[in-house]
Amino acid sequence: MADELSSRGDYDYLIVGAGFAGSVLAERLAAGLGKRVLLIDRRPHIGGNAYDQLDDHGILVHRYGPHIFHTNAPRIVEYLSRFTAWRPYEHRVLAEVDGQRVPIPINRTTLNRLYGLELDEQQAGAFLAARAEPVAKIRTSEDVVVSQIGRELYEKFFRGYTRKQWGLDPAQLDRSVTARVPTRTDDDDRYFTDSFQQMPLHGYTRMFERMLDHPNIEVRLSTDLRQLDQQVRYRQMVYTGPIDEYFGHCYGPLPYRSLRFRHETLDREQLQPVAVVNYPDEQVPWTRITEYKHLTGQRHAKTSVTYEYPCAEGEPYYPIPRPENAALYKRYQELADAIPRVTFLGRLGTYRYYNMDQVVGQALALYQRIEAAEPAPRRA
Ligand code: FAD
Ligand code: UDP
Repeated sequence: MADELSSRGDYDYLIVGAGFAGSVLAERLAAGLGKRVLLIDRRPHIGGNAYDQLDDHGILVHRYGPHIFHTNAPRIVEYLSRFTAWRPYEHRVLAEVDGQRVPIPINRTTLNRLYGLELDEQQAGAFLAARAEPVAKIRTSEDVVVSQIGRELYEKFFRGYTRKQWGLDPAQLDRSVTARVPTRTDDDDRYFTDSFQQMPLHGYTRMFERMLDHPNIEVRLSTDLRQLDQQVRYRQMVYTGPIDEYFGHCYGPLPYRSLRFRHETLDREQLQPVAVVNYPDEQVPWTRITEYKHLTGQRHAKTSVTYEYPCAEGEPYYPIPRPENAALYKRYQELADAIPRVTFLGRLGTYRYYNMDQVVGQALALYQRIEAAEPAPRRA
């Protein structure tokens, strides 16, 4: 992160936001095309929502909730592996339902424990098929689940959790939201089935530091686009903040869901048997508790955990997938398309409920378009 650039005040790219979207693009433009990049973030750190840090007790925690890396794209693994080694980790989640902790995604074990049965795989399939309700056209998050597992299991595992998480009933949310969670009839209790499931060995922040350690990249933290020195000159901007904010909310605010995190360190080695326990019961105010040592493999006499309390106000963490929001986003997108010097990228810049790997893929795809439009003088 060179200082000599700042004195010239002259950049090829201003990138707003140092999360996955902004940082990957900054690295590619600098290392791949030799561009001079100014990367700003209004937070006091890099990494965006994937930021991790040692807490007061020396335990590695994720400040913005659990971030588990998984992907099916070898290209993305190859790219990120330039900046980090990996630690194998397969994510497992339990849901507290009817006073028991059972696997989610629902699988054969979940059914057997919940109902005191001994179903084999075929019988588990028949059990669910007998309860599934036919839905003519699957549009909503309720339709997806009810058509697969029926209303009773839907209410136990999905209805309350979703109402807490989104402040909406599943019937008001796009099908894509609960479709993220599959149903299984075998004993596979992994949350994801992606071909690559590993965590950055030394954490996300270390990976971002290495990504941004390039003489053509200058990073300015605690710097909001709105407060950026007028003297800073650049040819192009890539903006990864909320798109509606960029345009002064001129069509009204795009809805986002926020979270309040309660971080705690406990004077015991372990709190729960897996990294995440979900609480679908609507009477419990949090949605889930994460215990980080399961994710990181760190050994420590104490343990640090995070409770998540969804809320309407606060940092915009989740775009809310529903048709009226997609329509409002489209209006902002039309404004964005009309300003050629600014490109919108990332989860907030394109209003998409994307995982980390999808954001990396989106940034690499944008880079390829830039590269194709402009023959590279020197390539990494
Ligand atoms: P962000 O990480 O949000 O980065 C945008 C940055 O822009 C922010 O740092 C912000 O401060 C900055 N910014 C915004 N506006 C301005 C401005 N005006 N001026 C300066 N800076 C600005 N994905 C997974 O793959 N696995 C998971 O397990 C997972 N868990 C998640 C858990 C939670 C609680 C949340 C909220 C998300 C989770 N995600 C997960 C999604 C993941 O966080 C995102 O896919 C990814 O971080 C998005 O990167 P981004 O760069 O698009 O956005
Ligand atoms: N979900 C649920 N119960 C659960 C887990 C998930 O109802 O125990 C629903 C909920 O609406 C959630 C969505 O499925 O927002 C997607 O879950 P996922 O774990 O993928 O969400 P993430 O935390 O990754 O955003």
